[in-house]
Amino acid sequence: SGEDTSGRVALMICETILDAIGQTPLVRINTITRGVVKGTVLAKVETFNPGNSIKDRMAVRMIEEAERTGKLKAGGTIIEGTSGNTGMGLAIAAVVKGYRCIFTTTDKQSKEKVDALKAFGAEVIVCPTNVDPEDPRSYYSVSSRLEREVPNSWKANQYDNLANAAAHYEQTGPEIWAQTEGRITHLVVGVGTGGTISGAGRYLKEQNPAIRVWGIDTYGSVFKKYKETGIFDKHEIYPYITEGIGEDFLPKNVDFSVIDHFEKVTDKDAAVMTRRIAREEGIFAGNSAGSAMAGLLQLRDRCSDDDVIVVIFHDHGSRYLGKMFNDDWMREKGFLESSGMTARDMVALGLSGELRSIECNEPVEHALTLMSEHDFSQISITHDQRLVGSLHEAHLYDCLRARPAVKREPVEGIMLPAFPFVDISTPVDLLSTMITPANTAVLVRDFKTDKTFIITRSDLMRVL
Ligand code: PMP
Repeated sequence: SGEDTSGRVALMICETILDAIGQTPLVRINTITRGVVKGTVLAKVETFNPGNSIKDRMAVRMIEEAERTGKLKAGGTIIEGTSGNTGMGLAIAAVVKGYRCIFTTTDKQSKEKVDALKAFGAEVIVCPTNVDPEDPRSYYSVSSRLEREVPNSWKANQYDNLANAAAHYEQTGPEIWAQTEGRITHLVVGVGTGGTISGAGRYLKEQNPAIRVWGIDTYGSVFKKYKETGIFDKHEIYPYITEGIGEDFLPKNVDFSVIDHFEKVTDKDAAVMTRRIAREEGIFAGNSAGSAMAGLLQLRDRCSDDDVIVVIFHDHGSRYLGKMFNDDWMREKGFLESSGMTARDMVALGLSGELRSIECNEPVEHALTLMSEHDFSQISITHDQRLVGSLHEAHLYDCLRARPAVKREPVEGIMLPAFPFVDISTPVDLLSTMITPANTAVLVRDFKTDKTFIITRSDLMRVL
């Protein structure tokens, strides 16, 4: 303690929990990278923030800027589309500062994340994941509508609000520079809104332009291809499991000029590494930490002995107890190793079909023609090439019998939910439990070669 200018005793006390944000530890990775990645690997463990994630930093930064610029007024309502962590930061700050919160999130996020937001009194609206960002049902659109309709409200807009990256330019970057005494050579970060990598990366490169900044991306996201070709390719977009990183649009907070390279990591590799971080390092971190560590291992050939590599661990493992840290969930997704035949073997043996699809605005009779010409029992339905639904023979027959005129209407009107996606390493035993009367096929994706196959009940019957 010491004395401030007013003569009051200044104790080492945080006036509110918000003062406890930041100054998180940098922890050496001792086991996972030993003998695999050259150099020193350090994790910036952001779980020590009050909301257990790095997002507390930018949440408070965005609120304080909105207060300063008059966009957020006393007693106002904070609105945001959030996968949970930003919501947590906003919800905590809202409690301290006296605001109300309404969040929209997607049905892909862990239930634990939603419940945690409610613990702070926030209202949460869960929206479907597999729709375009522009779709009125998307969590982006619903939050924009709320902003228009709720009086005295302000949408934080973490994707395009540059106060997000500014928080990391002002805090995360300088902390890493000080903690490594300027010896950092590489920064490895999972990219979602882009705030962390762009802000911290820009600060660090200003100190030393030789620092390399590597972004970790998911299969199913647009970042890597956009960085490498300048093309925003909708074909890159499909549903994936990894949480918190990858996007199907380009947020303003992603500064591509700061990022030297994007590395994509599969859902399985990310999930398996998330578990290893807990078991081998004793650090309980979330899914994107697993993704970032797995990505670093993929890039090990680019590392040398003198490197000081900092990997950001964005959030806490407790948010994933129902997922990556749950054996049943891991088995169900095919992420736990097991012996026996896998989808890859079926593909190699020619026991799986090529994926055929039609666009959702095409008439039902096109589906009928495609199915009868090729003798398919089921097809996928796309919207702008993106998988949005499915159709199988029995259902099509029922619809046509009930109302023959349906033939000339868009297939969208009668389509069923899209077939589930699994990784090509999924065991056949598991595939067989996923195929049910209601779900007649699964899509198998070889993420490394970017090919998708369909495995149906009749394909499976040949190997069981
Ligand atoms: N990991 C997790 C768990 C996250 O919630 C986020 C934010 N979406 C990220 C990584 C990516 O961070 P940023 O948004 O700053 O790019």
